[in-house]
Amino acid sequence: MNPPQTTPRQSAREIFDELEEYYDEDNLYYQTISSVLEAADLIDLPHNVKLMLSQPKNEIMVHFPAQMDDGSWQLFKGYRVQHNNLLGPYKGGMRYHHTIKLDEVKTLALLMTMKCALVRLPYGGAKGALKIDPRAMSPRELERVTRRLTAALGNNIGPDYDIPAPDVGTNAQTMAWMADTYINFAESSRKVTARGIVTGKPLEFGGSAGREKATAQGVVFVLETMLPGIGIDLSTQDFSLIGYGNVGSWAARLLQAKGARLRAVLDHTGAIFSKNGIDAEQLATHVRETGGVAGYSEAQAITESDFYSTPVDLFIPAALEQMVDLEHAKKMQCKVLVEAANAPTTPNAEKHLLNKGVEVLPAILCNSGGVTVSYFEWKQNRLSETWDESVVDERLKTVMCRAAECVLETAARLDCNLRQASYATALERIAKVYSMRGVFP
Ligand code: NAD
Repeated sequence: MNPPQTTPRQSAREIFDELEEYYDEDNLYYQTISSVLEAADLIDLPHNVKLMLSQPKNEIMVHFPAQMDDGSWQLFKGYRVQHNNLLGPYKGGMRYHHTIKLDEVKTLALLMTMKCALVRLPYGGAKGALKIDPRAMSPRELERVTRRLTAALGNNIGPDYDIPAPDVGTNAQTMAWMADTYINFAESSRKVTARGIVTGKPLEFGGSAGREKATAQGVVFVLETMLPGIGIDLSTQDFSLIGYGNVGSWAARLLQAKGARLRAVLDHTGAIFSKNGIDAEQLATHVRETGGVAGYSEAQAITESDFYSTPVDLFIPAALEQMVDLEHAKKMQCKVLVEAANAPTTPNAEKHLLNKGVEVLPAILCNSGGVTVSYFEWKQNRLSETWDESVVDERLKTVMCRAAECVLETAARLDCNLRQASYATALERIAKVYSMRGVFP
């Protein structure tokens, strides 16, 4: 085993200077790595590990043409960032969004490395994206760009190497097209295992029971583990949500089933509120039929500003990054911020909320249920097994509760907040494996 290389505390700025990397305090990747490195200093993470985690291993960018339904051609930009594969194959979602940038993908890939280490999955971290507005494209156009993206990524992805999954703007259908394209390219002896190239597939095509709701289900298990310790009974709580897509709508339905009450929702179409509570199932039907929460007749339309200042017990961002900034945080009146989305809170907003006494439950813990059930799907594909939803839920519960308890234990041991404790728990595992494996050559 190599001796550990300990170093004095070192900020992200010093690390970036050492790497001769450009940095910007407002850049999401820089903010996220800064927060990870703060936690690294709490556990005296060796200097070489800090350096290795500060930049992704691979940043792949592809451009490819595809034909639109009207016969015109467009050139598309796709990304796959592979942050780290120390613990296993790269793993992470594919996002379709028209404003996506490389640094966002790098951030999400870094968070996947942390998340998989925290919940002890045999995976590293990655993330991919396609710069399109999926709502502005027909299903045929989406299929063509998805197949071309998969072909363009080629051997940069694979069931033993890098395994994509759904994220914002993609779903089980997207994964089915990716898997089918990959299987068509695979050698005949590998066609059966080739469907493990992606997770989040439709149930009939190698998907796992419970995968669609898994991220939200994981959020609920984390809340059930953590809230009693801060004297909160989930069944009596009011909550609000940013985003009513996969994660938001499932979180609403599962929390409602536990007795909690949805008071307000903000999505890309507008914001709604009801003092008597919004029925999560009915709203999910409305969103499926119309594309967003605007126009839901059983609640009143409110402004974005009123949404943020609505008093609730649990405030749950489940949309895009940085949707809770300092201005929003000043308005917010909640007991707990539950980060169902990735990186939804700016560092200033987090500081403000912590000073106000708000408990912040960090994303790498809260939303790790999605990748956990993705792992279950990948495992079922490899074993040619099909697990019942009750089995999936039970195993997910074990993983989520264990991770939440580890974070609480680390927070007490290091006397730090829950985000620092989540990163520190993940980093301790990564550091241990680096110290055992060493660094090649
Ligand atoms: P989705 O595409 O199903 O839903 C996204 C939601 O965000 C939609 O309701 C949309 O209206 C809302 N939104 C978009 N732009 C907005 C804006 N400007 N203002 C307000 N709302 C806006 O995506 P999802 O899969 O539910 O993912 C949501 C978050 O959860 C993302 O941060 C994602 O990375 C994270 N996450 C998802 C999974 C998963 O399994 N799907 C797993 C882990 C983490």
